[in-house]
Amino acid sequence: MAKTLIVAEIQKGGLREATLELVTLARKLGGEVASLVIGSGVGAVAEDLAKKGGGKVLLADDPSLAVYTADGHARAIRKAIDAEKPDLVLISNTPSGWDLAGKVAAALDCGIATDVIRIEQDGADLVFVRRMFNAKFDARLRVSGSPRVATVQPGANEAYTGGETGSVVKLDGVGGESRTKFVEVRVAPAGGHDLTKAEIIVSGGRGLQKPENFEAVLKPLVEALGAQMGASRPVVDAGWLPHEYQVGSSGQVVSPKLYVAVGISGAIQHLVGMKSSNFIIAINKDADAPIFEVADVGIVGDLFEIVPALAAAVKKAKGG
Ligand SMILES: Cc1cc2nc3c(=O)[nH]c(=O)nc-3n(C[C@H](O)[C@H](O)[C@H](O)COP(=O)(O)OP(=O)(O)OC[C@H]3O[C@@H](n4cnc5c(N)ncnc54)[C@H](O)[C@@H]3O)c2cc1C
Repeated sequence: MAKTLIVAEIQKGGLREATLELVTLARKLGGEVASLVIGSGVGAVAEDLAKKGGGKVLLADDPSLAVYTADGHARAIRKAIDAEKPDLVLISNTPSGWDLAGKVAAALDCGIATDVIRIEQDGADLVFVRRMFNAKFDARLRVSGSPRVATVQPGANEAYTGGETGSVVKLDGVGGESRTKFVEVRVAPAGGHDLTKAEIIVSGGRGLQKPENFEAVLKPLVEALGAQMGASRPVVDAGWLPHEYQVGSSGQVVSPKLYVAVGISGAIQHLVGMKSSNFIIAINKDADAPIFEVADVGIVGDLFEIVPALAAAVKKAKGG
């Protein structure tokens, strides 16, 4: 049985949901669970995690850790690894997680698996599962040595809801100078396109093929339903729509009454942002597209035929 150390992530003063997903994964492995909370004045967060299944929670609390720096946080993680001697270190696959995980693995000269969705025990071995080729294949990785570091995709596991209560233990010697200097956080100006409050969202993906089709093909359906338009990341990355249209782990997390996914494959990073929608309709020409796993209604076919027909039917039903 592996002993697992979970590196908690704090967002807006509280635990990130992704941390509780790591607890689920660690608890499934069945071994001992310890966690690490890093920051300044974050004792309450550590207490919270101890009540939510985090096991023995190590608290790295120091004024020098008030803001994120890879040096400072990696130093705290190494202290925790020295103290707990885990077989496995779990970090969320978030921007700070990517930054940290590689640094910790390199410093310890140990193996790392990134972007993992599941971990399976195979005898004494651990198998790390990650999605490849738009989730058409699962790669199964074995990482030798101990400890092993893994970053886990947010949204791939449910948040832990068990009630075990652990203890909080202060970790000493975690402060110090950092080679990286924190300068400032710049919050992007709030745009006028707040999808989090939308009741109906029609999102388009790469399947729409070119930016003009968002106007010509998707917009009539958006208007017929009285919806807001959303998009997958490649659409935004290509500059077809502004970033505030993006749904997913690095975009907006939405839960409208109705979500219509058009020409979107359903990569896990997109699903994280919309799978809690009340009702999901997916239109995709690939019957095996993972979006259908979360859809209440799946339509397999060419969006260029289906979307105009749907828009016309909605308009007609509304008497338009
Ligand atoms: C760190 C990280 C963060 C990310 N964050 C996000 C995020 O926030 N949001 C996000 O969306 N992605 C995110 N991604 C990208 C994600 O992994 C996928 O690459 C992306 O979601 C795929 O977008 P897509 O479904 O539009 O494109 P594709 O995966 O290319 O899918 C296009 C789909 O359109 C279908 N299609 C094509 N033509 C037609 C047609 N004529 N009719 C019907 N269907 C058709 C295809 O069958 C296919 O399923 C992130 C990736 C990383 C690594």
